[in-house]
Amino acid sequence: MDWYLICLIIILFLATALYCIFHNPYKYPYKEIKLDISRKRNVQFIDEIDRYLCKYLMTVFNNHYQYVQEWKKKTEEKISKSLLKDYRKKQYLEVIDDEHMFIFLLTKEQTRYRQKNYVKTSYKVEVEVDREAYSYRQVAERFKLLSEIDFQCTLNEYYSKNQRKLMTKELKERIKKRDNYTCQICGKYMPDEVGLHIDHIIPVSKGGKSIPSNLQVLCSKCNGSKSNKI
Ligand SMILES: [Zn+2]
Repeated sequence: MDWYLICLIIILFLATALYCIFHNPYKYPYKEIKLDISRKRNVQFIDEIDRYLCKYLMTVFNNHYQYVQEWKKKTEEKISKSLLKDYRKKQYLEVIDDEHMFIFLLTKEQTRYRQKNYVKTSYKVEVEVDREAYSYRQVAERFKLLSEIDFQCTLNEYYSKNQRKLMTKELKERIKKRDNYTCQICGKYMPDEVGLHIDHIIPVSKGGKSIPSNLQVLCSKCNGSKSNKI
């Protein structure tokens, strides 16, 4: 056998062995959460996180937190049996990153085109716009604050000075459906939406919020007599 070839094999073998010893075998289990903001304007990152929490609550976060705890336990057990205990321990501590356990990604759908044989076809791709990382504690604190306002809107919206601006078309539709197009004082049914008003139970001028619990459907007659009283 060629002498050079033997040398080469030995070098390759040594390199592989060194790589196995020195390269960090641990990978911290981050959790990525995608928030689709296609067709949304003036997006505030934290609002999108609030909306996710209002919709899906803490399940994903609790489950992943548990998973990380188990991963840590298993990895530490493995290290205690390792021949390179101290070195492995150091490598393990380097990858621990609890402060950034959850990575939120803002994504947008983009339309792209491809041309083939004179035919142009469109296809959609998901593009990352921004990302922010949070610890479990930070997410849980946000969740607690949202629970105090009954998950009715985001915290920015709740404390916004401009509550009238928050009366979106979507919110109005939600209230109409919830109240079944029926005046909440006299019971008039308005399926054609003629004379249908969305009323702030506590008026905005008195600190009332644009949130479902403070909104109701009224007919124009009841709405008129209510504003006379106030
Ligand atoms: Zn009425």
